[in-house]
Amino acid sequence: MDVELFNTFSRSKEKLEPLHGREVKIYQCGPTVYDYAHIGNLRAYVSWDILRRTLEYADYEVKQVMNLTDIDDKTIKRSHDEGLTLSELTSKYEAIFLADLRHLNIKVPEHLPHATEHIAGMITIIEKLLRDDFAYKTDDGVYFNISKSKDYGALAELDLTAVTQSRIANDEYDKKNARDFALWKFWTLDDGGNVFDASFGRGRPGWHIECSAMAISELGETIDIHTGGVDHLFPHHTNEIAQSEAFTGKPFAKIWLHNEFVMVDGQKMSKSLGNLIALKTIIERGFSPLAYRYWVLGAHYRAKANFTWEGLEGAQTALARLETHIGDEVGTINKVYIKRFEEIISNDLDTPRALALAWEVAKNATLSPADKTATLLDFDRVFGLGLAPHKKEVIPENIMVLAHAREEARETKNWAKSDEIRAEIRALGWEVTDTDGGQKITKL
Ligand code: AMP
Ligand code: ZN
Repeated sequence: MDVELFNTFSRSKEKLEPLHGREVKIYQCGPTVYDYAHIGNLRAYVSWDILRRTLEYADYEVKQVMNLTDIDDKTIKRSHDEGLTLSELTSKYEAIFLADLRHLNIKVPEHLPHATEHIAGMITIIEKLLRDDFAYKTDDGVYFNISKSKDYGALAELDLTAVTQSRIANDEYDKKNARDFALWKFWTLDDGGNVFDASFGRGRPGWHIECSAMAISELGETIDIHTGGVDHLFPHHTNEIAQSEAFTGKPFAKIWLHNEFVMVDGQKMSKSLGNLIALKTIIERGFSPLAYRYWVLGAHYRAKANFTWEGLEGAQTALARLETHIGDEVGTINKVYIKRFEEIISNDLDTPRALALAWEVAKNATLSPADKTATLLDFDRVFGLGLAPHKKEVIPENIMVLAHAREEARETKNWAKSDEIRAEIRALGWEVTDTDGGQKITKL
């Protein structure tokens, strides 16, 4: 099965042709671990999990890297606000993020590098960029000179004449061009102990250089696929390309994929509007995280998706109904349906049509229940909706809420609270045990 993907760079669908045989190297911009991820962020991670699963379905071997940004302006500020050290803060939110991935049945990428583990690589890149005159020093840091870069802004189709105009108005920090961006920021009081020595001056990396250094070090100078949300087209991905290609002299990524945004009741999600929704909110309202996953699959990743609670309820009901078509016996996978499924999913990951096909299978009275089950389970290798041949025990809502609270207590190493909640769960007739894959809940 060949896979076609919409490459933002060429604005067209392209057949995936990996650089190294059946191996596909993917870099995915990961979270800044300073707060709960919101459902928009999680849509991005579900989308790239679908990419990964589709490639595995097509017998590719996937090597996926997702960074964890554990040092930047936001993390440092938040650590001051919460009265934690930077690493206390970032490990707390990293644990919460990894739990979100587990709840959403997202396969954990092979590598999850932390920015703070790759400082030496960032320094090496910046040193070379300075030597080769792609970068320059100012009073407050080291900047990348975008006028030295070939085709700067091509990915985002930037209008650079607008840049020239804003240059006149900009007199900050001796920058040569308003859009020149910081590779390195020299130490200031606000940074406290979060500082690294470098030949060009003590300080810390800018955000963009973090991804270039981690991608190159973990995956090599040219990667097959780079993913992220549309908000990263500019400046983040534009700057990643400029600095990486200036450093290696080679193309940075062959295919760029961008997911569209989740809106809430027709509005952009933002802190200032107070409409950020985290996965825990969804769980607290009695929804299964997999209902959210089903909801995400209902829209194509390149289309905006408008979140409403009614919409999520619809997804939860649909998923529960789909589960009723999974019997105990697993028969033969239907070849005709599988062929259609492959055509749909390999066409730029068309999950809405793939789900519609699953419903066609579910409703097809000429298929035996066992063959239906086998076919739907095969689709679920890509959907990741946790469909399983043996009906799982239905865990009541109040127990799920308690289990979630307990998981959070454990993430913050609050063992006393975790034990207290376990006792509460037991009093309600359920047992919770801790396994490598997370908490297991069974009826007493
Ligand atoms: P950030 O932590 O802001 O870098 O975001 C993590 C990922 O989520 C990035 O790939 C963003 O592009 C993506 N993202 C941010 N907001 C949304 C949203 N509302 N809907 C979909 N994706 C988003
Ligand atoms: Zn990135």
